[in-house]
Amino acid sequence: MKITILGTGTSQGVPVVGCHCEVCISRDTRDKRRRPAVLVQHKNTNLIIDIGPDFRNQMLDHFPGKLNAVLLTHEHNDHTAGLDDIRPFNFKYDMNIPIYGLPRVLENLERRFSYIFSSQKYPGIPRISLKPIRPWDEYEIQDVTVLALPVQHGGLPILGYCFEGFAYLTDVKKLNEKVVNQLMGIKVLVISALHHNKHHSHMNLNEALALVSKLQPEQVYFTHMSHSMGLHKKIESRLPLNVKLAYDGLIIDV
Ligand SMILES: [Zn+2]
Ligand SMILES: [Zn+2]
Ligand SMILES: [Zn+2]
Repeated sequence: MKITILGTGTSQGVPVVGCHCEVCISRDTRDKRRRPAVLVQHKNTNLIIDIGPDFRNQMLDHFPGKLNAVLLTHEHNDHTAGLDDIRPFNFKYDMNIPIYGLPRVLENLERRFSYIFSSQKYPGIPRISLKPIRPWDEYEIQDVTVLALPVQHGGLPILGYCFEGFAYLTDVKKLNEKVVNQLMGIKVLVISALHHNKHHSHMNLNEALALVSKLQPEQVYFTHMSHSMGLHKKIESRLPLNVKLAYDGLIIDV
């Protein structure tokens, strides 16, 4: 399985428009963080987790060919705003793209992208099919088996996704015991860590490190980082050996 990290920034992305902090003006390409998403590829199957406002540019850089499905973690704009840019895949492969997510998240799309679902469809609008899923649902998309995991994003229940040897959990504030047991000792874990201060709906770096030392994954990559996390090079050098900061374009073979 090949994982391409498409975006590792928090909702505003990094650099932040108008900000001149050392991270936002850094020339290290690892300090340029698009909105969070990953591409999961196995045999002939290509899946995207989350479709935020940078989706178009992410696909220009990492075009996978036919997209078999989009898996949504939750409805927040940084994870869904790129939905309209699914159209080139509709046109090129003449197919609807299945969109998996919690029923609440799919209902949210129906409201925010009402033109997609209108009874009188404007020609050329996105063609998608909604696939409601629930926590602990395990299902197959072509060659890939996916397990949906419940994640607590502050007060909002959202989903993370677990594959053979790899899990992607973003916007995490808390995981329940059952999820902790499921992830114990996993090979590769990509999980969110926002910055250093306390936040109501995201783990900060220390909280994420505490969770990781409990889970004991073989390799960990942090994602969904704000400019306040600090410079990639500086922060990563202080982390335990099996923990790294993810960066846009990182490829992980699992
Ligand atoms: Zn900044
Ligand atoms: Zn969120
Ligand atoms: Zn987010």
